[in-house]
Formats: sequence, C-alpha cells, structure tokens
Amino acid sequence: MSEGYGEYRNKVLGFIEEHEKWRSHTVNLIASENVTSPSVKRAVASGFMHKYAEGWPRQRYYQGCKYVDEVELIGVDLFCRLFKSDFADLRPVSGTNANQAVFFGLTQPGDKAIVLHTSHGGHISHMPFGAAGMRGLEVHTWPFDNEAFNIDVDKAAQLIREVEPKIVVFGGSLFPFPHPVKELAPVAKEVGAYVMYDAAHVLGLIAGGQFQDPLREGVDVITASTHKTFPGPQGGIIVYKNFGEDVAKLQWAIFPGVLSNHHLHHMAGKVITAAEMLEYGEKYAEQVVKNAKAMAEALVEEGFKVVGEDRGYTESHQVIVDVSDLHPAAGGWAAPLLEEAGIILNKNLLPWDPLEKVNEPSGLRIGVQEMTRVGMKEDDMKEIAGFMKRVLIDREDPKKVERDVFYFRQNFQRPYYSFDYGLP
Ligand SMILES: *Cc1c(COP(=O)(O)O)cnc(C)c1O
Repeated sequence: MSEGYGEYRNKVLGFIEEHEKWRSHTVNLIASENVTSPSVKRAVASGFMHKYAEGWPRQRYYQGCKYVDEVELIGVDLFCRLFKSDFADLRPVSGTNANQAVFFGLTQPGDKAIVLHTSHGGHISHMPFGAAGMRGLEVHTWPFDNEAFNIDVDKAAQLIREVEPKIVVFGGSLFPFPHPVKELAPVAKEVGAYVMYDAAHVLGLIAGGQFQDPLREGVDVITASTHKTFPGPQGGIIVYKNFGEDVAKLQWAIFPGVLSNHHLHHMAGKVITAAEMLEYGEKYAEQVVKNAKAMAEALVEEGFKVVGEDRGYTESHQVIVDVSDLHPAAGGWAAPLLEEAGIILNKNLLPWDPLEKVNEPSGLRIGVQEMTRVGMKEDDMKEIAGFMKRVLIDREDPKKVERDVFYFRQNFQRPYYSFDYGLP
C-alpha cells in the first residue's frame, strides 16, 4: 500500500474542476484561446492518446495503426478542402513546432528571413531568440507603419530587394488587419524567396472565408496553431501548395526532423474540428468579425481608446485597446484588475512602446472568438464593454462587477457551430 499519495490525485482533479467552473463563469477574451465541442473533447480523451504511429498513414513505423490511419487520412482530405491546398499535414504538435518544420525544411543556417518583430506583434518563434534563430537564420524585420498598424508595403518591398531573403514570414500575434501579402509575395518571388504565412491566430477566420486567403495571394505554405480562432484542441497544422521539389524537404523536416510520434488524440480532435468548420465555419467566422467590430465600437462609446480608428478598428477577432491614459502602470494595472472582475485578457506591448515597458505595456489585447463560439452576439459585446468601463474607468469594486459577469455568463455555456449544438 502506498502512503497516501492519493492526496495529490485528489488535489489535481480538484484544481481541474475549480478551473473549469471558474472559466465557465468568466468572460474569456484571451485572443489565443477557444473552447472545443464535446465531440472534440471525446476524441482528445480517447484511447488514441495511448498509441504510437510515426510516419505517414499506411506507411507507419509502428504496428496497430489501422484505425488511426483512417482518421488521419480523413483529416488530410478535410484540411485540403477547407484551405483549398494541395497538401495538409496534421502532425505538428503546436504552431511553434510547425514553424520549426518549415524553417528546418526550407532554409539553411546563415540564410536570411524577414519576419514581423515581436514589438510589432510578431511571434517569438520568428525571432533570433526563437525557432528562426535556433535554425541559424539571419533575421530581419518588416518595416512597420504604426498609424496603419501594418507592414509598410513600400519600405518592405525595398527591404526584400535589398536583403534577398530565403524566406519571408507574414502573420503575427497582434493581428487586427490582414497583412499585405498580395502586394509583397510577388516581390519575394522575384528574389526567389519562400513565402510563409503564420496563421496561428486567424486560421479559423481564413477557414470561414472572412480574412485574407493566403494561398490565393501568393503564399507557399501556411503554418498555424489549431486552438485559437480555429476552435480545436491544442496543436499545429501545415497546409501548403505544391511548390515543387522542395516539398519533400518540408515533409522530411516534419518527420523525422522535428517530430517522432505526433499526438494522435489531438490529431483526431483536429479532424472533427475541420469537419465543424466546413459545416459551420463561415457563419462562425462572420459572427467573430462582427462581434470584434461591435466590441471596438462599444469600447469607444464607453470612453476607451481603441487602436486602428482610421481602418475601422479591426478586421479580425482582435480588438486592441490603449489604456496608457488610465493608469501609470497601464496594461500591467488593468489586466489583473479585470481578472478580479471575471474578465480574462492579456496586457500587450504596443508598437510604439519601449521594450522595457514589457510589464507595464500600454495595450490590452482582446479576442472575441471564444465568447462568439458560446453564442454571444453584438449586443453581448456592449455588455462586456460596459463591465470593463465599470472596472477601469468608474473604478467600481471589481468584486461587485464579478457578480454581474457571473450572471451574464450563465446564458452562454455551449460551444455552438458544432455538430453537438448546431448554430446559436
Ligand atoms: C500562438 C502563435 C504561435 C505558436 O503557437 P503554439 O501553438 O503556442 O506553439 C505561432 N505563431 C503565432 C503568430 C502565434 O500567435
């Protein structure tokens, strides 16, 4: 008999239960998260988690894969249909893992890359201290236009011709407006560069046809996470065009380059999510963008400063608020206070912030995709903006607001746009 380590089991299960209860009572606006349907949860909690596969379906290095193979082949087909791509690879276990595979497959150490700087909303995996640097790439960053909140097209074209990179990378984590891919992909092609698009944040919007369409705008390869606007389990995905003989290099980099076994239970969850998006993705993505615009307008009406005014604030799931006028610690003050009121979101460095303000950045980053998935519409965004005003502008006791958030949230408990619950 063991000496009562069962205590720890109880603690872990208890914390999970508390977490789930808390999350179901709060308004989660973290732009990189979502909730999965019961069917996807079933897949992720299935016996597929106990299996090794390695390699491509029907050409595995492990025995016992006949059912796993069927699921993965359905998945490849559904992802190709969803993104109108020639190839889809469900194996990357995260967005960063997908980026690693592309960098290792298509570049050599010493090659040059142009990426979005983290201070302009780029992702760490594109940076010298992240996956791109670990591959030995010489990283240059896109010239950024703070006013337009986007890559500066003319200066970027000039930079591509000057640097002659091996790969250019579009996409980012602070991503209210589509990147100028149509304009810059042809320039990248002039110098023989690969064009990569990191759709981690906006994959669900692209799937629903509500953002840009990277593969039609000249992109060779899309990498992404499968759990942000794409409402699947944690994971990664790569969808790509047939860009010639280097396709094999990319495939070799995915396996055995940066992976041995992939996570088969998550793979199965991605497949069900792809089916959900083929069925409901357009309506979901439409509502996400409508809600983001409604949220931006409601926040402005409540007295907040929302970034991107000239361009209608947002065309994605994100709304970016500058709270530097409200408190000296800005986002470092606002985000924890909102958490006390049951509104969960992140503070965020804005492009014009000095890097040393990383703990007290000017911005808050809001994503409306999860609340959209549980059925919220434009009027509900107004309610949320009102809660935020009570906390941050009226300086009401956050505990009082939390009670109202609790009752408001009770009406939104099911992940819609799914086979389990249909449309809201
Ligand atoms: C979130 C994110 C990633 C990384 O995704 P993980 O799945 O967490 O590894 C990569 N790129 C961008 C732009 C992201 O926002």
